[in-house]
Amino acid sequence: MKVNPNYNTKETLLALYNKPLLELVFEAATIHRQYHNPREVQMSSLLSIKTGGCSEDCGYCPQAARYNTGLEAHKLMTVDSVIEQAKNAKANGSSRLCMGAAWREVRDNKDFDSVVEMVQAVNDLDMEVCCTLGMMNEDQAKRLKNAGLFAYNHNLDTSKDYYKDVISTREYEDRLQTIENARKAGITVCSGGIIGMGEAIEDRVGLLMSYMEMETPPDSIPINALVAIEGTPMEDQKPIEQWELIRMVATTRIAFPESVVRLSAGRTKMSMEGQALCFMAGAGSIFAGDKLLTTPNPEFNEDKEMFDILGLIPKQAFADGEKPVTQPDPIIEAKKEQAAARAKELEEASFQPRKITVE
Ligand code: SF4
Repeated sequence: MKVNPNYNTKETLLALYNKPLLELVFEAATIHRQYHNPREVQMSSLLSIKTGGCSEDCGYCPQAARYNTGLEAHKLMTVDSVIEQAKNAKANGSSRLCMGAAWREVRDNKDFDSVVEMVQAVNDLDMEVCCTLGMMNEDQAKRLKNAGLFAYNHNLDTSKDYYKDVISTREYEDRLQTIENARKAGITVCSGGIIGMGEAIEDRVGLLMSYMEMETPPDSIPINALVAIEGTPMEDQKPIEQWELIRMVATTRIAFPESVVRLSAGRTKMSMEGQALCFMAGAGSIFAGDKLLTTPNPEFNEDKEMFDILGLIPKQAFADGEKPVTQPDPIIEAKKEQAAARAKELEEASFQPRKITVE
């Protein structure tokens, strides 16, 4: 993944962001055509596999337990129901499934074992599997990689300077460490941000600078517009103008020519024309389906119609990288062996000939 050497300082990026809009879009469109097929847009689905009850305090998030948003919490979905949802998403044209769990961090427990099984099962369906599970260590990243995880999502959300106005329960450095752990395990990195949280334009550019400073920038950079939810500290934030989202997509595209820029939350507030400008400016993916974790999103049918009108084609899975090869997971294999041994024991016990005592 490379960065654009012409825009690797805060000043040059800021000047780029503030360019006359159509010039900015034209420059982004030109770069996009050099590195990507401009007609291809990946349809991805986002599935909340564990909803709400999170101990963190991200100011935009209705899943934080401390905010009273009326969100109904759900414990971890079963592996079978995830497979069913994945098949449904695939049938509707999605080539990537992103599974999100509202956890502060991954814990080595049976829920994580189930997630490992989910990853393996969805990879077996020939879909790119992405997870967003909070912070994780290197060993956990390795387990996910061996299960067939294609990408790990961990957003920096905003600039290092503005971060403390958004989240206080963990540090920016913690986030960078998780990204590093995913990288070391050989998982592709998906990391981006949210605009419209009251930040300055300098903070949007500051977010991009954080990626510029990485040894390898993210393979995927999702750009979200805040969907202000009642009950969260950001409930009163006014929606941003769609032009800001277009600028952010275009600036990101130019700064990171090889990465996939993902137009994510906030599309419901955009016109089709606004979205078309984002595709022109280099957005290479959208989330399909009527929900993004817990926030509203356009329906599958609306997006199909938009693709037809704009002449876009859904991008196939693994167009940007090989399908991960899965390895048996020692913990799950041991559990299976234990379960098989127990079943055998029970079977043998039930066939014990009854002892007859003769008095
Ligand atoms: S964004 Fe993630 S970590 Fe933050 S409160 Fe929501 S679920 Fe928890």
